[in-house]
Amino acid sequence: MRSISIFGATGSIGEQTVDLLLRAGGAGTHRVVALTGGRNLARLAEMARLLRAEIAVCADPRDLRELRERLAGSGVEAAAGPEALLEAADRPADWVMSAIVGAAGLAPGFRALRHGGTLALANKESLVTAGPLLMAEAARQRARILPVDSEHSAIFQALVGEDIAAVERIILTASGGALRDWPIERLAAATVAEALAHPNWTMGHRITIDSASMFNKALEVIETREFFGVAPEQIEVIIHPESLIHSMVGYRDGAIMAHMGAPDMRHSIGYALNWPERAPLPVARLDLARIGQLTFRAPDLQRYPALRLAREVMARRGLAGAAFNAAKEVALDHFLAGGIGFMDMGCVVEAVLEVLDPELGRENDRMTLEDVQAVDHLARQRAGEIVRRQAGER
Ligand code: NAD
Ligand code: MG
Repeated sequence: MRSISIFGATGSIGEQTVDLLLRAGGAGTHRVVALTGGRNLARLAEMARLLRAEIAVCADPRDLRELRERLAGSGVEAAAGPEALLEAADRPADWVMSAIVGAAGLAPGFRALRHGGTLALANKESLVTAGPLLMAEAARQRARILPVDSEHSAIFQALVGEDIAAVERIILTASGGALRDWPIERLAAATVAEALAHPNWTMGHRITIDSASMFNKALEVIETREFFGVAPEQIEVIIHPESLIHSMVGYRDGAIMAHMGAPDMRHSIGYALNWPERAPLPVARLDLARIGQLTFRAPDLQRYPALRLAREVMARRGLAGAAFNAAKEVALDHFLAGGIGFMDMGCVVEAVLEVLDPELGRENDRMTLEDVQAVDHLARQRAGEIVRRQAGER
């Protein structure tokens, strides 16, 4: 029986992973090792009981007592806090889903690679902040990383049986997010609720805002560079409002392989779960005659400064990704809390990259997890200072 752990089980990706596991027979067909969650203890305990997990871990040590109470009599162990998360990652599992949101997902995923199994990677921040480190660790431990982000799963599938050397370009599709048809002058005043109204995908709050600002696509461009090892100039972004083509690979003979399907993350989660086989999945089938047409347009870099910043990060590499991601997370926190405007997020991130420039010089092959965490910390501090300064000027 295959053993499985899910980090971030109570989130959007985690829930959909649990859904697929339950449909596949749940505890009858899989041995569930660890399930982890943030603050939703009721749901974490419920899924741990359903899947008969060995251990359930919540993010905050202050919640441990309540988690224990909720698991009483179930035989599921309870633990809490970042250390417990790492210990859960130390428990061997054949297949581990990394679906914690943000930089907090890096350390547990990195640790889980030690078992040499499969890491299904939804946490794109891991590759953005520590791509060279993560890929080297996977190679050293003979572990396999399978992409879960829909674009990267699409690219991975479009590469099956092909030689990466024959790839000319990778074309990432983007929905353009909730505000894509707004006049650019109005964007500065966009509210959280407006940015959350994603046209095609239902996702966690943070990634939905990141879709509207295209910070999500910026992370995905860097993720593509790190995962597939292609040059930054080979990566293109195109807005495709229908979100039916999940990404494309262009080969040197001019052919383009596109991956299509309904916008449902259970496709890429299921692909990673069943790889290298394809199992039936409960996703809608496309009715192409009804869809009628697919449209595309080039992204406007004025509207989406994140895409320009991603190019700068790729040119620097090293620790620039960690600074970029951390600054983005802080800017997003402040936008969500109403402290800064929608377009201010890009300004904050750009300012952080500028002030930290001298600190980001570490070579890719010499960086450590501690370096990444130190730059992450520094970038968060600088981003906070910049936000406070901006507020003072207003
Ligand atoms: P989410 O916010 O819905 O869930 C995140 C999970 O992580 C939850 O279980 C939460 O409790 C947990 N968590 C949050 N902060 C934590 C912390 N500090 N310590 C421990 N646990 C913590 O997020 P999501 O939308 O499921 O996204 C998860 C990851 O997958 C992100 O990296 C995101 O970019 C990526 N992703 C998501 C989607 C999607 O459709 N939702 C698509 C592609 C990629
Ligand atoms: Mg994606």
